Amino acid sequence: MAVDGQWRSAAPEYDAVVVGASLAGCTAAILLGRAGARVALVERQPDPAAFKRICTHLIQASGVPTLERLGLLEPALALGGVRSHLHVWTAWGWIAPPDDAGPRALNLRRERLDPLLRATALDTPGVEPLLGRTADALLRDERDGRIRGVVVRDRGGGAVPLRARLVIGADGCGSQIAELAGVETRVTAHGRFAYGAYFEGPAPERAPNASAWFLDPQWAAAFPTDDGLTFYAAMPTKERLPEFRRDPERALTAFVSNLPDAPPIRDSRRVGTMLGKLEMPNVRSEPIAPGLALVGDAAMAIDPLWGIGCGWALQSAEWLCDEVAAPLAAGPAEDGALARGLRAYRRRWRGRLMPHVRMIEPYASGRRNNRLERALYAAGARDARIAAAFESVGARTTSPLRGLGPLLPRIAAVNLRHARSGRERFAPYRSRGPDAAAAPGAGAGGGAEREAVHA
Ligand SMILES: Cc1cc2nc3c(=O)[nH]c(=O)nc-3n(C[C@H](O)[C@H](O)[C@H](O)COP(=O)(O)OP(=O)(O)OC[C@H]3O[C@@H](n4cnc5c(N)ncnc54)[C@H](O)[C@@H]3O)c2cc1C
Repeated sequence: MAVDGQWRSAAPEYDAVVVGASLAGCTAAILLGRAGARVALVERQPDPAAFKRICTHLIQASGVPTLERLGLLEPALALGGVRSHLHVWTAWGWIAPPDDAGPRALNLRRERLDPLLRATALDTPGVEPLLGRTADALLRDERDGRIRGVVVRDRGGGAVPLRARLVIGADGCGSQIAELAGVETRVTAHGRFAYGAYFEGPAPERAPNASAWFLDPQWAAAFPTDDGLTFYAAMPTKERLPEFRRDPERALTAFVSNLPDAPPIRDSRRVGTMLGKLEMPNVRSEPIAPGLALVGDAAMAIDPLWGIGCGWALQSAEWLCDEVAAPLAAGPAEDGALARGLRAYRRRWRGRLMPHVRMIEPYASGRRNNRLERALYAAGARDARIAAAFESVGARTTSPLRGLGPLLPRIAAVNLRHARSGRERFAPYRSRGPDAAAAPGAGAGGGAEREAVHA
C-alpha cells in the first residue's frame, strides 16, 4: 500500500529513513550519520542484540575493508573473529592458496557481529533508532509518484508516517520495501537446500582456514570461528531432502564424516540449534527508484553457497553512502545531486556485482559443473597461480573477467601438460564420495529449528 499526501503533513522529516538494522542498514546509518545526515533507523526487532540466525557468518575479504572503515575490524577480532582463506576440495585435489595470498575473510558468529554493528549505529550522532517498528507502507508524492517516506507501525499497531528525502530498503531477502515500491524483481529457483550447526571439538585440519567440498553437485563446508567453534554446513541437491528432514543432525554428521579428507565432526559436539533453510531462491531487484535505494539482500540475495551476502551487504551500503551522503547532508537544495548519486550507485552496484552474478546464478540450479568450471578446478588444484586467482575471485576482491579471463590459456596449458604426462586430464573422484556414502549413520538426533526452517 502506498500512502499519498501524508508526506506533506507535520510528520517528522529525515534526510534518510533506513528500513532494517542488520548489516546493510547499520552500515548505511553509520556512514550517513557520520557524514552529517539526519537518519531514522527502523527495525522490527525490538532487541538491540537481535541477530540473523540462518547465516553461516563468513565475511568474504571483499567486505572486510568496509568493516575496517566503520572502525569495527579490531573490535570484531577482539570478540574472537578468525581470519581465513578458503581451501576447496575438488575431484582433482585441493585448491589451496598460500597463506600470504591476498586479503583474508573474517569469521565471527552473527550473534556477536550483529549486536556490535547495531550498537555502533545506535551510538552514531544523527541516527535516531526506531526499534520494534515495522515499515509497512510508503509515502508517495501524489504528483509524480516519487517516494517521500515510510509509514512505520509499532507493536501495538500504532502507525507513524516518517518523511524522508531518501528511503533506504535494507530489509533483507524478499524486501517488503522493494515490493511496495514496485521495482522490477527477478526470481530464479534454487536447486539446493542448506543445513548446518556450530560444533565444538577438534579443529578441522585446515583451520584457521575454511574448507569447502565441491562434490559436483553436492556441497559441504567447515568454517572455524570464534570460541574455537566450527560451523559445519551441507548444501545438497533437493532429492536428498527427505533424509535431512527426518533427522537433520544425523544426516549432517553422516554427510560431513563421509567427505574425502573428512573433518572431525564425529569427535565434536553440537552447540546451539540445527539451522536449516529449505528454499533459497535468487532474488535480484532494480536497486533504485526515485526517492529509494535498496542495499544488501533487499537489492540482491543470491546463492548462499558462495558466502557473499554479508560482504555485499556491507559493501553495497558503503557504495550508496559514498554517492549520496554529501547531497543528503547538504539539504533539499541538493535533490538533483541526490538523484545523480542514486544513478551512480546503481552503476557501481551493477559494475561490481553483475560479473559475479553471471557465474553464480546458473550454478544455483543444482546442476553439475560445466566444462569450463571443471577445467578451472582441475588447473587450480595443479597450479599455484591459478589457485591464487581462484581465491581472489571467490573472495570477490577481483572480478571473474579480470581475475580469470587472462588465465584461460594457462588453465588450458596446465591441463594439457597434465594430460601429456600420461595422467588423465580430469582425474576421477578419488576417495569415497558422499553421494555413495552419506546414508545416516551414528550421531544423536536433533530437531531442526522449525521456526527458522522455511519449507
Ligand atoms: C543458509 C544461509 C547461509 C548464509 N551464509 C552466509 C555466509 O556464510 N556468508 C555471507 O556473506 N552470507 C551468508 N548468507 C547471506 C547473509 O545472511 C545475508 O546476505 C545478509 O544477512 C544480508 O544482510 P542484510 O543486512 O542485507 O539483511 P538481513 O541480515 O536479512 O537483515 C534485514 C533486517 O531488516 C529487518 N526488517 C525486515 N523487514 C522489515 C520491515 N518491514 N521493517 C523494519 N525492519 C525490517 C529484519 O528484522 C532484519 O534485521 C547466508 C544466507 C543463508 C540463507
